[in-house]
Amino acid sequence: MRAAAVRAAAVCGALVLLAGCTSADGPTAAPEPGAGCPVTERAAPDPDRPVVDLDLRLADDRRTVTGTETVVLTPDLPVEDLWFRLVPNAPQSAGHRLTVEAVRGDLVAGGGYVDAGAAPGTPGGLYRVDLREPVPAGRTVTVELDLRLRLTDEWTPAGFDRLGAADDVTWWGSGVPLLTWEPGHGWGRDPMVEVSGETTAAPAADTTLHISAPGDLVVLMSGDQAPPREEPGGRRVWESHDPVARDVAVAVGEFDTATVDVGGTRVTAGVLAGADTSAEELAEATAEAVRALEGRFGPFPYPTLAVPLVSDDGGGEEYSSAILMGDADEDLLVHEVAHMWFYGMVGNSQFRDPWLDEAFATYAQGHGDTDDLDRAGAVGGSMADFADQDEYEALVYGKGAAALAAAREAAGEQAFDAAVRCYVESQAWTIARPEDLARALQGLEPALDVLVEAGALGRQDVEAAGD
Ligand SMILES: [Zn+2]
Repeated sequence: MRAAAVRAAAVCGALVLLAGCTSADGPTAAPEPGAGCPVTERAAPDPDRPVVDLDLRLADDRRTVTGTETVVLTPDLPVEDLWFRLVPNAPQSAGHRLTVEAVRGDLVAGGGYVDAGAAPGTPGGLYRVDLREPVPAGRTVTVELDLRLRLTDEWTPAGFDRLGAADDVTWWGSGVPLLTWEPGHGWGRDPMVEVSGETTAAPAADTTLHISAPGDLVVLMSGDQAPPREEPGGRRVWESHDPVARDVAVAVGEFDTATVDVGGTRVTAGVLAGADTSAEELAEATAEAVRALEGRFGPFPYPTLAVPLVSDDGGGEEYSSAILMGDADEDLLVHEVAHMWFYGMVGNSQFRDPWLDEAFATYAQGHGDTDDLDRAGAVGGSMADFADQDEYEALVYGKGAAALAAAREAAGEQAFDAAVRCYVESQAWTIARPEDLARALQGLEPALDVLVEAGALGRQDVEAAGD
């Protein structure tokens, strides 16, 4: 289904020249691109991207996940070791515990935790795998990590978290060591900071999941899921494949589910007994968000989207082709669905450039209050650059969305939308940087001026884009 969606976009790109393709023509209509970005076709994922296999088992206690992660990496730069992120910076995740029990591989010499600012008493924020010898660019390294994830519901986190457990559901996003490789640049070894947000910079990887779970539970997760198969002991194994996953989410619970097809995407929503909404309503609301955003940003990036509503603590977390919802709020749903383009498909370092996904996801909601532009402080910068949570959210989300809306106003809606669409299609499945956005906006000086003024883009980004 992905290939079909990409083809449709390309066809419409060609039609632009012949008959004009406006947004009224439907979700595949691509506005004519600007001078700085002549691309109309979505970039294909790197054929040499990592391959990840996750073989995991949720124990009958519903609180312990064990299994093996196999990672096949062909780095495009020489490497001396491999780095994984254990805790992607949610300070509230400290009550849960992810450990690496063993590490294997032909070139593997051992491994160890690296503190990287993790909470005292926890294993560490990062895990380093030592290699017997340096590995040149282009040589393939295979590593197997035996892992154990222990989830707690005894300790109440400060708000919705990517990891959690309750009587009728267990969920984990970023629940396994995440390869922090940024093609063309190397390892992301960012420290944990006080501000709560994501800090991953993971490449899109060809990912397969196998989840063994108690037989009376339903699994909703990233990727295109096959029907479950029975396993001895009254368990079932659920499998899925996402060929371009940066990070995956898995929810296992007593879900009632509903499915809706929208465009080339199958949406599956799941709710628990007593939820504020039905599975049908959640699936429909998600499909509506997909439909609306396809009209602005092009075909939905994935053939499937899983939306488990796992809690009512409020909030949501985006993963590749899956969204963990802690709230059935429809405005929040639009934000998380927008992350499928901005984070899922157009990746970014969430530590170094959090605004590239959060400002765009907030802008996609239609939020962009011009009053926010007057707030002092820069939209851009790393997660370490913000004094506290309030400042981080006000500048990255609020002022960031306002700056994008003002840039659109300044450049003209059609030209700006075409440039953003081109940014999306040309940076698909990469880890984008601010200069890539600046490149797509070349020729739209009024928009660039607004974004520089707001401290979203730096002058150096604009200059780098012109090189
Ligand atoms: Zn967000």
